[in-house]
Amino acid sequence: MAATIIDGKGFAATVREKVAAHVARLKDENGITPGLAVVLVGEDPASQVYVRAKGKQTTEVGMNSYEHKLEADTSEADLLAVIDKLNNDPTVHGILVQLPLPKHLNEDLIINSVAPAKDVDGFHISNVGLLGTGQKSMVPCTPLGCLMMLRDHHGSLSGLNAVVIGRSNIVGKPMAQLLLGDSCTVTIAHSRTKDLADVVRRADIVVAAVGRAEMVPGDWIKQGATVIDVGINRIEAPEKGLKEDGSVKTRLVGDVDFVSCSERAGAITPVPGGVGPMTIACLLANTVTACCRANGLAEPE
Ligand code: NDP
Repeated sequence: MAATIIDGKGFAATVREKVAAHVARLKDENGITPGLAVVLVGEDPASQVYVRAKGKQTTEVGMNSYEHKLEADTSEADLLAVIDKLNNDPTVHGILVQLPLPKHLNEDLIINSVAPAKDVDGFHISNVGLLGTGQKSMVPCTPLGCLMMLRDHHGSLSGLNAVVIGRSNIVGKPMAQLLLGDSCTVTIAHSRTKDLADVVRRADIVVAAVGRAEMVPGDWIKQGATVIDVGINRIEAPEKGLKEDGSVKTRLVGDVDFVSCSERAGAITPVPGGVGPMTIACLLANTVTACCRANGLAEPE
């Protein structure tokens, strides 16, 4: 039987509606407008697209969006000064430093210079530690979006075998922590994992966060498993023809082979339209949460 397609785009729209309603209440009842500041260093084209999308969706839900675009050769001291200013600005409730940063900047140092309470990406070591010990924290947006879709689909995740492929700090590791928090039995796989196919075949839940186009084939998937595809990979699509400059047109695919995996999975997220839209929706939700915490107000559920 064909898998249920988990509609991340539709789910994200629902999350944004709830965020917008909460923002409206904060304005009406408390006179507070949540504000999200995004810092972009350099001109990485993919990062520029993400930052534009974040800014647009931030204002669409009624929040203030502050964009700080800095030159690619900005010094560490100057970037730290911008972050320090935002840390101390009461109108800014969330701060996001767009990654990756240019090579001359120390990413760990920069991430850990953001005030933990405003760290809506959830990458600061304080938030990582809080999440790891099951305490209230800022939760990284992509894994949070994955968890929301999994909870929505399954109800309880308790006792399920989950395999996370990928161990990055921004997706794989926090995803594993969240699944553990929901009482899954969690395996984290990575490039050194032996017999990945065998590991994945035991999973009731597979989260693929690798960055390799369509690397998980359908015959790795246990019948009826839920597949969450985090990967965003651009591949050539000769069937779409040529661009004006004569090069082959491209399309986005995930880390799993969608066609063969959806023949065995019970449910699967598409790429695009799955995890991606949920990530920005969760960023907006985290900003409202940060705003409520900063003002001692009830947080959204
Ligand atoms: P990273 O490159 O930081 O991490 C990739 C992970 O995959 C590493 O842990 C690596 O293992 C593992 N890996 C690489 N090759 C293999 C292999 N052959 N078998 C098993 N594991 C392997 O990537 P990210 O976590 O940042 O991103 C992963 C993907 O998710 C990317 O496609 C990215 O674009 C996408 N993404 C999507 C988002 C969204 O909003 N939808 C947000 C963030 C990322 P090792 O540690 O051993 O090297």
